[in-house]
Amino acid sequence: MTDTIFGKIIRREIPADIVYEDDLTLAFKDVSPQAPTHILVIPKKPIPRLSEASPEDAALMGHLLMTVKKIAEQVKLSNGYRVVINNGVDARQSVDHLHLHILGDRTMNWPPG
Ligand code: 5GP
Repeated sequence: MTDTIFGKIIRREIPADIVYEDDLTLAFKDVSPQAPTHILVIPKKPIPRLSEASPEDAALMGHLLMTVKKIAEQVKLSNGYRVVINNGVDARQSVDHLHLHILGDRTMNWPPG
């Protein structure tokens, strides 16, 4: 696959405000926040989008969700938060490296746009 801006962030080739890292994941603040707290959680493995994850990625997918939970506790989103995965063109995914958005510290709207 082709490299993305998130690959450059993983390799520290461009800066990011990193809030969490472990062997499998990296989390950093979104450069264009859509809520007072807006964090992106990504696998270090360059999976382009959820629909391209394979059965062998099942444990990693679970780890990503548990990482979201850990970060939400770390940044004290005790009043709730939204987790978003934009997958593909119709969802307006703009970076082809799987990422989970954590949005918090405001009341969300439903349905999402
Ligand atoms: P998507 O639209 O693909 O679901 O989300 C991509 C997100 O990545 C957007 O919210 C966008 O603001 C964020 N983003 C794009 N480029 C950068 C960057 O260079 N640094 C950071 N921290 N976030 C980025």
